[in-house]
Amino acid sequence: MSANTASTPVNDAVALTQILLRMNTINPPGNEDQCTHYLADLLSAAGYDCRLVEFAPRRSTLIARIGGRPDKPPICFTGHVDVVPLGSAKWSHDPFGAEIVGDKLYGRGSSDMKSGVAAFTVAAIALADQIKDSAGLTLVITAGEETGCEGAFHLVGMEEAAEILGKAGALVVAEPTGNEPLVGHKGAFWLKANATGVTAHGSMPECGDNAIYKIARAALALENFDFGTAPHALMGQGTLNIGTMHGGLNINSVPDAAEMTIDIRTVAGQDHKQIWGCLCNRMGPGIGLQTLLDVGSVYTAPEDPWMQSVIGRCQTHFDKPLPPKIVSYFTDAAALREPLGHPPTVILGPGEPRMAHQTDEFCYVARIGEAEQLFRHIILDWCK
Ligand SMILES: [Zn+2]
Repeated sequence: MSANTASTPVNDAVALTQILLRMNTINPPGNEDQCTHYLADLLSAAGYDCRLVEFAPRRSTLIARIGGRPDKPPICFTGHVDVVPLGSAKWSHDPFGAEIVGDKLYGRGSSDMKSGVAAFTVAAIALADQIKDSAGLTLVITAGEETGCEGAFHLVGMEEAAEILGKAGALVVAEPTGNEPLVGHKGAFWLKANATGVTAHGSMPECGDNAIYKIARAALALENFDFGTAPHALMGQGTLNIGTMHGGLNINSVPDAAEMTIDIRTVAGQDHKQIWGCLCNRMGPGIGLQTLLDVGSVYTAPEDPWMQSVIGRCQTHFDKPLPPKIVSYFTDAAALREPLGHPPTVILGPGEPRMAHQTDEFCYVARIGEAEQLFRHIILDWCK
């Protein structure tokens, strides 16, 4: 069965999801401009002020804005249009076919997260006339999210970022949550540590200075790393893992270089700069440290009044009470939140969280329309 062919992508979030799924935006290389240009055309026609910002050729982030009042900031929705590679397993549905079988829509990005982008875009277009004289709405549709929020970080690093983005009073990140409102995510702080030494013939190690011993001692110094902060009530404690270690070129030489990579996941209240200082102390002098990725945690107290109103809207779609929960993956909110003015932030979208990055990724068709309705309510609650 195919989607309702009478629908157009401006009023049917499922049809728009299908159109976006047929555009191959596997990152790398991304080529997200297929989606962002298409969405810019739809949103411009509905009255949105659209701006495309490229961080690399064919890789643009779209910022679409409508309304705005001096006394109240707009609400902001964000989502990414890049998708992850297909993996080595064979798919039983064309990953770019956007096939609907039974209650599921298949395709790479169906859950993570073209359905979420389509749902808020259709809601935004439907409400354009109603909200054009209100506090307003900002959509930030990014490229390069899957490779460390590249598009979002590029945008917020621009000189004109404040003018392009503006402030926001609330932020919705439409990543896959099965339409459950989630109140935050952990941060990621990825580092590379390296040691240097002096090479010598392997038969005369006393003439050299072995870099592997140094990096090995540094690794052991980080085992059972104590973050020195109390665990967060919902997020628990931060974690540290040494993911890789490399050193030496051949068996019969003293290695003069060695390195390891460190994956730290932080919880709300932990400061990455402070952790950096603690690591340097623990590993001692002679160990170099370099940042590979620095994405902060995101958290809004479930008691926040806006969060409460969002939870209330979502609750109508669930039989059981929704307990406050967080997600494990990080999102563009980590980059966007500070320049937007630290608004309360919910992660809420129609995709299936367990389907993200999977073979035969799908999204339940019904969730997409449900999300569009939820997003309409959330926008109107803010703008009225
Ligand atoms: Zn995602």
